[in-house]
Amino acid sequence: MLKVENIYKNYGSVKALRGLSFECQEGEIFGLLGENGAGKTTTFRIIMGLVGANQGTVTLDGMPIDYSKTDQIGFVTEERSLLTKLTVEEQAQFYGALKGMNEQEVDKALTFWLKRFEIEEYRYRKIKELSKGNQQKIQFLCAVMNHPKLLILDEPFTGLDPINVKLLKDAIYDLKKEGCMIIFSSHQMEYIEEFCEKLVILVKGKPILKGSLKEVKQQYGIKRVEVVGDVTSSDFQNIKGVEKVDALQDKFILHITGEEVVPRIFKAIKEKKIRKFEAMEPTLNEIFIEKVGEAK
Ligand code: ATP
Repeated sequence: MLKVENIYKNYGSVKALRGLSFECQEGEIFGLLGENGAGKTTTFRIIMGLVGANQGTVTLDGMPIDYSKTDQIGFVTEERSLLTKLTVEEQAQFYGALKGMNEQEVDKALTFWLKRFEIEEYRYRKIKELSKGNQQKIQFLCAVMNHPKLLILDEPFTGLDPINVKLLKDAIYDLKKEGCMIIFSSHQMEYIEEFCEKLVILVKGKPILKGSLKEVKQQYGIKRVEVVGDVTSSDFQNIKGVEKVDALQDKFILHITGEEVVPRIFKAIKEKKIRKFEAMEPTLNEIFIEKVGEAK
């Protein structure tokens, strides 16, 4: 298990992290969310031991993370970190050696991943000759070729088309199944919703919302109702708690103050011909925008 406990980090007067704690278990994907400058990269650097924290501890399976452990951590950084003059094969051998793999092990892993990512023909090509998306696949395979215990993915889908996003997603799910702990960061909320069982949202280094995706959604509550049927906007007038009604082509979206408003709406229109009535779960995107806005 990865355990991050009460981390504080200052860069001079900049408070980059203010009391961050979370855990990630084997086979779990944990989402680290925040705006630009919220402290995500700093968190990754502290986990990797690249920078020290002012306060707090990070442990992997109960032990502090030092150089003897970093081989067990794969890191796909947002900014690409490949040696572009090397060939794919040379790059993999270089990273493999740093992770303590021998040549045959790297060779076997590289053959497996190039086939899986459908880029076998690039094995002897220089990295700089590859497209951005294919460079991203090389970066990913270099991070996972020694089956890391912990994998940190910072915007892993950048530059990938939908087919390649699918290839990478499937690979991430397989690593999860193998028991890999995965910390996932992305500004694309649909990926976080799809992948992460648990998450934390940081605002200026401070965790403002934390828990399972389900808990986070429950805390936020129901804020929208969709109605399709023989109704008009005036049917929703004067219902206490309905703040706004959007009349779209074939449906009405009602913005409400909370879940207690739902039965009131239902009561007001129950005699009408209704084809759809749905109290809609909030999206992570809505939660993020509102909660980050409030905290600021
Ligand atoms: P992004 O989404 O843009 O990558 P982030 O969430 O990864 O942002 P960090 O890079 O961790 O954010 O930065 C957190 C804060 O710390 C920011 O205010 C940033 O300017 C500051 N910071 C980061 N690295 C340094 C540094 N080496 N020296 C001084 N300040 C830094």
